[in-house]
Amino acid sequence: MLSNFPIDKSQPTTRNIREANRLQILHQLLLRKNSTRQELTQLTGLSNATVANLIANMMEEGLIVEAGTAASQGGRPTAILSVNASAGACVGVDVAETYIRFELYDLTLQNLAEHEIELPSTQKEPQEVVNMIVSGFNTLLDRVGLPRDQVVGVGISIPGPFEHSTGVSVFAPSWGWRDVSLQSMLEKELNLPLYMDNPLKFNALAEAWFGAGQGVDTMAALVLGTGVGAGLVINGQLFRGASNTAGEWGHSVIVAGGRACRCGNQGCLEAYVGAPGIIQTLAEIDPKSPLLFLKTKPARFQPLQLPPKRATPQKPLCIKPLCT
Ligand SMILES: [Zn+2]
Repeated sequence: MLSNFPIDKSQPTTRNIREANRLQILHQLLLRKNSTRQELTQLTGLSNATVANLIANMMEEGLIVEAGTAASQGGRPTAILSVNASAGACVGVDVAETYIRFELYDLTLQNLAEHEIELPSTQKEPQEVVNMIVSGFNTLLDRVGLPRDQVVGVGISIPGPFEHSTGVSVFAPSWGWRDVSLQSMLEKELNLPLYMDNPLKFNALAEAWFGAGQGVDTMAALVLGTGVGAGLVINGQLFRGASNTAGEWGHSVIVAGGRACRCGNQGCLEAYVGAPGIIQTLAEIDPKSPLLFLKTKPARFQPLQLPPKRATPQKPLCIKPLCT
């Protein structure tokens, strides 16, 4: 289970340890909805005094509220705590290759509003995409009349390898971007705390916290869209690899001299199991298939909510065409 927030070991100051401890408490409250101080002490491994002190601060700030009381053994009732839903809001932005989706949540992660815009294939320059993100963000807040100062942070998912520590889009093959300082461009426009990463990492975090990966220490969350890849959680931590590209295997060559890939190489995995690759395979197998001539826009698939399966050395999990 993803339960611990990593502390920046290069700067182990009292302040960032305290910040990491606060995040652990908030994270557990978000996952469980309600908890007592005693439960939070057990869940985080922090001392009673640390939990009591941090919760007192967060109650003063209005981040945490008492949601009721629970009976305790022999003593006075214990307070049940929860995150204060109305203490602010947060926004998630999914920048895909053909659309940008915006979702607004209160601080207990209840959905308040949604907005989606198409991303025309002609919109390719970084500043154009930034302008569309800012415009869509403003439209989302306008829909519910939420003042901008109520937003405590924005999470933005950007396709392609993204260097989370520097905020740089390393490579976006669809748009021809290389080393674009996207986070600083967006910070100038939005002037809010931003958390940016690529969809593989966000998807893995979402599955680990709220989806099929709950209670599992090690998992891979696969994404099969226009691009393909995986987000990895190992021993309870998001795994980035030495160059932050762990799970970016869409452009690994599986067929020497195979199909042309949009990255310029040939025979990449993505050219076979990405959505355009699947359509190409269908066209090769059955060129008259009615699926190739659909006039209506197909419904978007919802993520699968399957219980995690466990592989063993004797019985590895595999997808048939790729297994020998
Ligand atoms: Zn490729």
